[in-house]
Amino acid sequence: MSDKTQPIRIAILSDQEGPSCQVVTLPFSLEGLPPVEMEIFTGVGSLSPEKLRQTLKERQPAGFDIILDGEGLAPDLTPAPIGAGPQVQILEDLLCQLQELRQKQEINSGIINSATDAIVTINESHTIIGYNQGAQRILGYSREEALGQDLKLIIPPPYKDVHRDFVRRYVATRQPHVIGKHVRLNAQRRDGTEFPMSISFSVAEVRGNLYFTGVIRDMTETKEMEERLLQSERLAAVGNTVTHIAHEIKNPLLIIGGFARQLLKATELDDKARQKLAIIAEEVVRLEEMVAEMRDFVRPPAPQKTPGQVEALAGQVLEFFQDNFQEHHIRVQRVDEGPLPRVSFDPKQIRQVLINLFKNAVEAMPRGGELTVTTRVKGSNVEVSVADTGEGMGPDVAANIFQPYFTTKEKGTGLGLAICNFIVKEQHRGQILVASTPGKGSTFTVQLPLSEAPPE
Ligand code: ADP
Ligand code: MG
Repeated sequence: MSDKTQPIRIAILSDQEGPSCQVVTLPFSLEGLPPVEMEIFTGVGSLSPEKLRQTLKERQPAGFDIILDGEGLAPDLTPAPIGAGPQVQILEDLLCQLQELRQKQEINSGIINSATDAIVTINESHTIIGYNQGAQRILGYSREEALGQDLKLIIPPPYKDVHRDFVRRYVATRQPHVIGKHVRLNAQRRDGTEFPMSISFSVAEVRGNLYFTGVIRDMTETKEMEERLLQSERLAAVGNTVTHIAHEIKNPLLIIGGFARQLLKATELDDKARQKLAIIAEEVVRLEEMVAEMRDFVRPPAPQKTPGQVEALAGQVLEFFQDNFQEHHIRVQRVDEGPLPRVSFDPKQIRQVLINLFKNAVEAMPRGGELTVTTRVKGSNVEVSVADTGEGMGPDVAANIFQPYFTTKEKGTGLGLAICNFIVKEQHRGQILVASTPGKGSTFTVQLPLSEAPPE
């Protein structure tokens, strides 16, 4: 056994898997050990000892160096207990390494399976060879159904073949197109329903073979939230328009109504004219009431304040934006000088403020950058500041940003900061400040007064 090139032949007898004697050969080499030829004889429980001996002899006329028979299937076959010597050493090393390998594998598959995202691996021929529990949950196919299938299984119709072409192209050219990127696509569940997902691709080369792994996150909830966000901004826009119109109409109505009533008092009018004037005056009153009602209707609801931790809320909203930041190549830095004292605020409203600030920061950094979110106590306030390394703005822009409808964006509503301003100043008696340098970035700071703190 001192010859390091002479293979060690190991037979493993197993009663599992299959009724008849099947042989699986596992040639492999482990560091510092001679090559190992390991053969697993499955289903040997049904064989007589003579038949088993014969089978082993047929496979390996020179005999096996080691026979592992954990199930005591052929006690008389197992070579007499091997004494000390290189064989034992090798066997121990081997078992040790196998155990380590198995442990590593268990840890790896444990990690992969505990991930909430779906992790799917395919080989160069587009066949699914890896499929974790997250994938079962998100995609609806069981492991057994998915493994060995073409990836087409989970790709919705228009892209079924496109993806395979991507893989082919990558194998041929090694030109990464989507490798390492986050892409938003639709995927298809087992029941045929499509859902939005964010997928990131990676590729690994193992022993000359390429394996592609996609990490899929179900974006259904995120998408719904984004839509709700857009909807609430639209609603706010409608509300603001109504308030604006109501304000514009109120004064002319007052004038019309005033003149009509004055004229009614004049004596030289005939009855017909008087009648018409009376109708005008009445209609004006009706319109005034309607305008007042409309304004009440769109007036934002009173804040629902509860004592809370601003830094926890900031953390939640950051988490919600995580994919968005990643997609836009924005690194996030969180400076938490907490724990901060609890202050009283409406979590929904302040959440909206942070969302608007994060959205603006993302839009100000179209080529990526850094976002720093700091929470701290400053003077008599708790403050959250959101600093970006984006395009910044000049004083002429900065002077107007809190005005409703002021926007410098092609598709902007100009309402985000107006809403922030209203929520922070009017609803929370706080402050919202901005500091900005063109080309360098902007910092928005929201301050909530400690005097609003709840009694301990
Ligand atoms: P919108 O985002 O729809 O334009 P906002 O009220 O959110 O409306 O913002 C108003 C304007 O303020 C923006 O159009 C932009 O010019 C400016 N602005 C807001 N946030 C930033 C920022 N982080 N960096 C640079 N400019 C900003
Ligand atoms: Mg905005």
